[in-house]
Amino acid sequence: MITIKGLSKSFGELSVLENINTEIKEGEVISIIGPSGCGKSTFLRCINLLETPTTGEISVDGQNILAKNADVSGLRQKMGMVFQSFNLFSHLMIIENLMLGPVNLLKIPKQQAYDEGMRFLEMVGLKSKVYAFPDELSGGQKQRAAIARTLAMKPQIVLFDEPTSALDPTMVSEVLGVIRKLASNGLTMMIVTHEMKFARDVSSRVFYMDEKGIYEEGSPEQIFDHPQKTKTRAFIKKIS
Ligand code: ATP
Ligand code: MG
Repeated sequence: MITIKGLSKSFGELSVLENINTEIKEGEVISIIGPSGCGKSTFLRCINLLETPTTGEISVDGQNILAKNADVSGLRQKMGMVFQSFNLFSHLMIIENLMLGPVNLLKIPKQQAYDEGMRFLEMVGLKSKVYAFPDELSGGQKQRAAIARTLAMKPQIVLFDEPTSALDPTMVSEVLGVIRKLASNGLTMMIVTHEMKFARDVSSRVFYMDEKGIYEEGSPEQIFDHPQKTKTRAFIKKIS
């Protein structure tokens, strides 16, 4: 589904990612772990072109999204992104937040966007907050609304960047619960997280990032229980 070849990213003199090569298949749930500043967010942001890679190739369904003539907005619609800081529109009700993209970008009729929006809000357990404004929601509810808004665009893959890091500990599990549900529905996802138990449970593959790339990858058992390389071992030891 996504093929990444020779992906590198520098900010001026600072080289953050060097020669990343990997493939993400449909239905995979990939957790990305690693020390602060190792480039996890930059990696996700390159995949959906919030950052322009310095060199390399990213293909989605066989189309190189870095090609000059690529349909960037079309490709971006295939990839949803959920951030640490919800990014809901504060002047719009929750249902309006969900309808905005489908109506304006996908040109879906309003009634249909409303009906589908309601369905996604029900899925994340927010039916009672349909007409509330973002400021009237708790952090966990805001993040669940943000996830529903992303799903309303019917992405083929959703990229999560530390979706629970800004939340009170009491609200983390409700958001992780929603992501677990999406995983069991077969949604393709890449998730940067510090929630190791969650990563172990939900992932089909884990990327440990260090040394400007994917330093070690494997199944959750391989990475958490039997890491092979020095830095992965040290990291897993430190966090467990
Ligand atoms: P964390 O776990 O703290 O979120 P991270 O692994 O997501 O860290 P990134 O945010 O990808 O790390 O940052 C990787 C490196 O790139 C850091 O040294 C950071 O300072 C640098 N960096 C990120 N974005 C920019 C930018 N827009 N301009 C310059 N440097 C940047
Ligand atoms: Mg980050």
